[in-house]
Amino acid sequence: MKCRRCGSFEGEVALKRHNATFCRNCFVVFFRRQVKRAISEFRMFTPKEKILVCVSGGKDSLVLWDVLLDLGFDADGMYIDLGIGDYSRESREKVLAFARLRKREPIIVDLSAEGMTIPEVTARLRKKACSLCGMIKRHHFNSAARKGGYDVVATGHNLDDEASRLLGNIIQWNVKYFPGQKPVLEETSSGMVRKVKPLVRVTEYETACYALIRGIDYMIYECPYSKGATSLAYKEALNMLEEEMPGTKARFLFGFLDGEFFREDEKEESEGRSCLVCGEPSFQEVCSYCRLKEEVARRSAAGRKGA
Ligand code: SF4
Ligand SMILES: [Zn+2]
Ligand SMILES: [Zn+2]
Repeated sequence: MKCRRCGSFEGEVALKRHNATFCRNCFVVFFRRQVKRAISEFRMFTPKEKILVCVSGGKDSLVLWDVLLDLGFDADGMYIDLGIGDYSRESREKVLAFARLRKREPIIVDLSAEGMTIPEVTARLRKKACSLCGMIKRHHFNSAARKGGYDVVATGHNLDDEASRLLGNIIQWNVKYFPGQKPVLEETSSGMVRKVKPLVRVTEYETACYALIRGIDYMIYECPYSKGATSLAYKEALNMLEEEMPGTKARFLFGFLDGEFFREDEKEESEGRSCLVCGEPSFQEVCSYCRLKEEVARRSAAGRKGA
């Protein structure tokens, strides 16, 4: 196939939604341009700002770190070891190996150090792993960004992630979650650092192609807690539509983002005061993370007494 950009007959990556085929080199150029465009279009950050990239060892976050470094941004990676058996061990190795190749030192937070691994917390509280995990990760990334003087926290959410999340929010009419769909969540006076999603213009498939071409070795196994996640069903539904009507995902998400769905007076969830224990933003005197930690410690102590 002919490459749309350079005209060579080595076109390998066919992108129906752009009605184009690219050779490997031109695809890498195309992909980086899409990320750059998202960064400037949504005013995510400037070249002078310090970026903390949330890396999980999966393709999206490692690709994001790779692209930001290649675009010349000052980007550090941070990995949280969730203590989920082999999954965490392997993903941590992937992050460390990638960082070594790029000659970067990642920030590592190990939840086992404070008895807060995901298996421990879910066993103590008997609650769903993913909601606890999301809250724990948000707490640590924000806290590390503040302490390390980072201007912005970047995550590897891609177009598929964002479109499927929007579909889920619309199907459930979770209107209160609409503001969280923005590719940029501004910092708040209470201490939430700006959050951005620079991969919002590229699909999961495109990200996987980029990882393959760039030789990025990432964690291919899913977290064991992700089984049966409803987001997978929404992704499948969107993939079916995309197959029939290329460009559907992008039209769906960006049509929403361009629309009038955000009220001026809407306050971000994080607007509030500071936690008395850890100093992170909180609605109450003590933040949800510190309350969770306290609850886990209390139940552990009760378990030991009862043993
Ligand atoms: S699937 Fe759930 S538990 Fe596993 S890493 Fe993701 S949010 Fe955390
Ligand atoms: Zn080409
Ligand atoms: Zn706290």
